[in-house]
Amino acid sequence: MPVLHEYMDKDGYYILANMNGNVVAFQLKAEGHEKLRDAGIEVGQTFSRFLLIDLYKKGDAYTHKSGVTPPEFRQQKAEQLQIEFPPEPGAEILFPHCSNCRSMKDLHLIEIMDKKRCAKILCSDCRPRNRAPTDSSIPLQLFTRTSLKHFLADSQFEIIDPVVTDYQKSLDMELEDKWLQLKRKKKPVQDTLLGKKPGGSLF
Ligand SMILES: [Zn+2]
Repeated sequence: MPVLHEYMDKDGYYILANMNGNVVAFQLKAEGHEKLRDAGIEVGQTFSRFLLIDLYKKGDAYTHKSGVTPPEFRQQKAEQLQIEFPPEPGAEILFPHCSNCRSMKDLHLIEIMDKKRCAKILCSDCRPRNRAPTDSSIPLQLFTRTSLKHFLADSQFEIIDPVVTDYQKSLDMELEDKWLQLKRKKKPVQDTLLGKKPGGSLF
């Protein structure tokens, strides 16, 4: 399960999760941390990968172009991380990855004009290696559920890679209730009705 971490050397938070057997670090925007905090998730705590995919879909959590490695993350031993983050069966289906190498680094949706018109997701390592002519190359996180649907329909692809359809499925998932379930579990004093939190504590 993903774990919330706080940077040691600067302000801010990040998330570590095991994706396809690799530990991946997600940068977290302030809005993303606020959502986790409101749901009662504290630093060091694990949480459902459904919340992570929801943060990712909304752009509140993202993998950096270079594939994030926070300094303290680099210092940790790989074996230690493997124990801490056992792979979650099925987790990879929720998260988009490269059609060729399964990396999550800086993904683009690529329209390849080979013998057939084909839609794939390629990472920043695989894009330069692609020899087939491409029509468009769009950063994946620019797509919303609706725009991806239109893009796929309008482009009349003959082949759509399964990673693209899997990502479309995860965009279609309604995850709001996952957040609500957690909020309901929190102490009544922390509950606020839809909207602004009073004051907001600094810690
Ligand atoms: Zn790749």
